Amino acid sequence: MITLESFVRGAWQRGNGRPKTLQDPTRETDIAHCDSTGLDFAGAVAWGRGVGGTQLRKVGFAERGRWLKALSAAIHAKRDALIAVSAENGGSTRGDAKFDLDGATGTLAAYAKLAESLGDENFLPDGEGVQLGRTPRYWGQHIRVPRPGVAVHINAFNFPAWGMCEKLACSVLAGVPAISKPGTPTALVAYRVAQVIAESGVLPEGAFQFVCGSLGDTLDHLGPQDTLAFTGSAKTGAMLKGHARLVGANTRVTLEADSLNCAILAPEIDDDAATWAAFVNNLVTDMTQKTGQKCTAVRRILVPRERVDAVVENLVDRLGRIAIGDPADEATKMGPLASGAQFEDVSAGMQALLAVARAACGGPTKLTARGYFLAPTLLVANDPDAEVLHSLEVFGPCATVIPYDGRAAEATRLANRGGGGLVASIYANDKRWTEDLVLGIAPWHGRLWVCSDKVADQAYAPGMVLPQTIHGGPGRAGGGEELGGLRGLELYLQRVALQGDQGHLGRRFGPSTGSAAV
Ligand code: NAP
Repeated sequence: MITLESFVRGAWQRGNGRPKTLQDPTRETDIAHCDSTGLDFAGAVAWGRGVGGTQLRKVGFAERGRWLKALSAAIHAKRDALIAVSAENGGSTRGDAKFDLDGATGTLAAYAKLAESLGDENFLPDGEGVQLGRTPRYWGQHIRVPRPGVAVHINAFNFPAWGMCEKLACSVLAGVPAISKPGTPTALVAYRVAQVIAESGVLPEGAFQFVCGSLGDTLDHLGPQDTLAFTGSAKTGAMLKGHARLVGANTRVTLEADSLNCAILAPEIDDDAATWAAFVNNLVTDMTQKTGQKCTAVRRILVPRERVDAVVENLVDRLGRIAIGDPADEATKMGPLASGAQFEDVSAGMQALLAVARAACGGPTKLTARGYFLAPTLLVANDPDAEVLHSLEVFGPCATVIPYDGRAAEATRLANRGGGGLVASIYANDKRWTEDLVLGIAPWHGRLWVCSDKVADQAYAPGMVLPQTIHGGPGRAGGGEELGGLRGLELYLQRVALQGDQGHLGRRFGPSTGSAAV
């Protein structure tokens, strides 16, 4: 049994309370203990702000980018060992583990690359300057500077490596130290990654702390220059956003929460179209990759009523061929749910959906005596407007086909009933129909992924979050925004307007200083 420790104030430390137990979800065996009771959380915040922040801001953006590149390489060097841990603790197949780990190292590397053009200053010009006075001498220029606080990063269990590193990439590059907390069920993977980060010695002291277990009273010590970046369920996010200390101090809070993502098939897509093939392939990937435990996975499949039978037939056939089993076995394409609690949640969610839908395949039955295995479950809605279809996120290998009449307006109405989503995928060649849908659902989504025959052969799957484009969404998706290239740094930077002599302020702080504008 491994005892997971926290990396606080430059040392690995154990809690002194009652530990939580982590399991191997394939065998239902206990593999690790995790506890952070009694750690000095106030000290961690002060250490991050005082030591870590100061060290980070002794150098500029370009140098911090070089650190990210080194971190990416250090984690990548342990890839095989981390893949094995991910199978043991997360129930991840090799492909699922790579998705998480390569997402982590790829995002660090992407931000390292971006940093190359940012220069060695500790500010970023924000657009062009503007004449304010009667002559150009009196000038205005916006800039962004690192906030001298600490960033608390709370991550969900489903991407223990990627979730931690994508947040770390942005805060470190911005010059803000992080205290990172993983989701407990898969904390062993995060712990191993944290060990690599700490042992690499790449980051200066205090720039990275890691709390494995509860955050204790950490949030009570945050102030106006600090940041809380949360990823997890809408319920936990709402509770944290209302935290009295954070509200009182106007601490920046951003939430990445859950989402009833939808895929929308246009009526004109024939079975032999490249777009149709992409539609079916991506749905199978979304339902089975990471056993459906992906915040971006499609939960609602909007299909023109007359195409429902063809879609269901294709998907049932493909899903029936997915090999389910021990994730360490190379033939396995889908492993178990990540934990017993997840299994209970997902089975209960499937049951709730079955009250308003029929199962075309799968269902909430445990597949094996040991291990949290469920079959990929495709449901077909009886009533497209049933509330539960648009409000309950079943965070597992489950999606529901929802028939609609083929009009963009009707697809818009149903898509937006999700109350705010991370990503909606559109499969259409008809440009006018697509544009109507795009404009109809854009306000309710963080990302619209549009597939036509022109791009079907090169588009990444919609569930893949890319560092170049934003991740997040309005409403129930949390209202947050991460990544999106340099936009991802905004959370950690303060924008300030400078007004004065162009010859001085414009020259020193304007875009011509060599730092890239945000
Ligand atoms: P969760 O139960 O809400 O937990 C998320 C994180 O919050 C975990 O680290 C959890 O720690 C922590 N937490 C819980 N209560 C807390 C408290 N009182 N104070 C401080 N931290 C607290 O969600 P989950 O089960 O890990 O993740 C699944 C959910 O996350 C799904 O709904 C999924 O859609 C969503 N998700 C969203 C995104 C996105 O980018 N939008 C990405 C991934 C997942 P413990 O584990 O120790 O309880």
